[in-house]
Amino acid sequence: MENLPQPGFMQEHFFASLMTRIKQAETDESYVLLLRFDLDGFRKLNEQAGYREGDRVLNILSSRIDDLPDDNEQLCWLGADEFALMLGMDDRDEIEPRVSQLYALLREPCEINTGRFQPRISLGIAVYPDDHMDGYGLMLAAESAQRHAKMRGGAQLNYYSNKIHEQARYLALLEKDLHGALAREEFYLVYQPKVDSTTGVVKGFEALLRWRHPERGMISPVEFIPILEDNRMIIEVGEWIFAEVCQALVRWKKSGVDIVPVSVNVSMHQFKQPNFIERLQQILSEHEIESGMIEIEITESCLMDDGQENINILSQIKSMGMGISIDDFGTGYSSLSYLKRFPVDTLKIDRSFITDVHNRRKSDNAGIVTAIMALSHSLHLDVVAEGVETAHELAFLHALGCRTIQGFLFSKPLKEDAVQELLETSFSMAETLLQVRQELQAR
Ligand code: C2E
Ligand code: MG
Ligand code: MG
Repeated sequence: MENLPQPGFMQEHFFASLMTRIKQAETDESYVLLLRFDLDGFRKLNEQAGYREGDRVLNILSSRIDDLPDDNEQLCWLGADEFALMLGMDDRDEIEPRVSQLYALLREPCEINTGRFQPRISLGIAVYPDDHMDGYGLMLAAESAQRHAKMRGGAQLNYYSNKIHEQARYLALLEKDLHGALAREEFYLVYQPKVDSTTGVVKGFEALLRWRHPERGMISPVEFIPILEDNRMIIEVGEWIFAEVCQALVRWKKSGVDIVPVSVNVSMHQFKQPNFIERLQQILSEHEIESGMIEIEITESCLMDDGQENINILSQIKSMGMGISIDDFGTGYSSLSYLKRFPVDTLKIDRSFITDVHNRRKSDNAGIVTAIMALSHSLHLDVVAEGVETAHELAFLHALGCRTIQGFLFSKPLKEDAVQELLETSFSMAETLLQVRQELQAR
């Protein structure tokens, strides 16, 4: 080909630059993208339009990259219709837009002697450091991504698929979007009723955080809360949650309904903040909410890691008059001696132990839950069963003496106005309870 330097030399040179860039990216924590692409049906183009026109298309493609205003992109012709392109990138979230832009540029129609030619291009992308840490690995990864693009029918771009790194990329996107989510009012709370299994009366609610992402829609707290914990944003968001719960309580109260306690999940970093207790007190008094209207839920694993220190914080919360539950109980290997010393009121049995609790053929949960119930009786602790979904689970738990039930069987988490309605109308889920009894009798 006339304008393209010969592959051998180019490749060596290109490879050396790739190594240099990776070294640099290592120091300044940036990214190196390696793109491999070729034309689908290049042979057909050569046959139909002639080799000269085939070469012309390759030249057009390469000059599109060479003509880009900045020198960030470096292109290498690998022979035949194969190209490699590398570029550096400072931010992870710039990667996808930039790749799409380049892909669109390459796919613009070319004018050749036989007329307008629409390039169909298979593009594979690999990213340092996500997909590979060295130049060879990156080349192979990009090539494999390109091959997959071809196997799926060609004319598409495809990122090297490494499940772990895909996940990392997704989480990095979420993390970026979480900044400012509070200010953009993308968070809101829902409230799941805790119901007395004998009477159906609603005894309280658990506040659960929701994030509506402007493009991705609802994101599960299981995905985004660990990110908030990692980057410590949970402290700020956690305060917002407390304030929001207080405001909701004020609004329900103002509307004339009797309010019931709302429990709030507290994460470890929030709990360990030196001014956690003072902030709680401040928020409560700003809203004139009695401390008894708020309970905190803290996970078993969080409590176990720093024994005495935690007992002190819990004691202060307790002396303020707030209830304390141990969340996800059963999953964190509580030492029984600690459990006795923790000033807690309630154990919330983790959902994983509730599923199929009545069915000894399907699970060993019955034994575990029976043991937790016995433990709670002797330590004088209340128990909440979490994630109760079926009438049989409910009946089994009720027979064991578990009085408080939270789960989809009674209700999914509700928005604030639905809570209001529930408190206004019946205050109870006795109807659901009746249906459950009928369902059990019918069998
Ligand atoms: P968690 O505190 O154990 O909350 C209970 C979870 O179980 C909630 O999931 C709830 O929607 C779900 N659930 C309740 N009943 C059922 C049922 O019958 N079936 C099934 N399949 N699920 C049920 P969600 O809202 O997705 O929250 C997940 C976890 O995220 C929570 O577990 C908690 O650890 C965390 N989280 C949620 N909101 C907050 C928050 O405001 N602050 C903090 N720090 N963590 C939160
Ligand atoms: Mg909870
Ligand atoms: Mg739980």
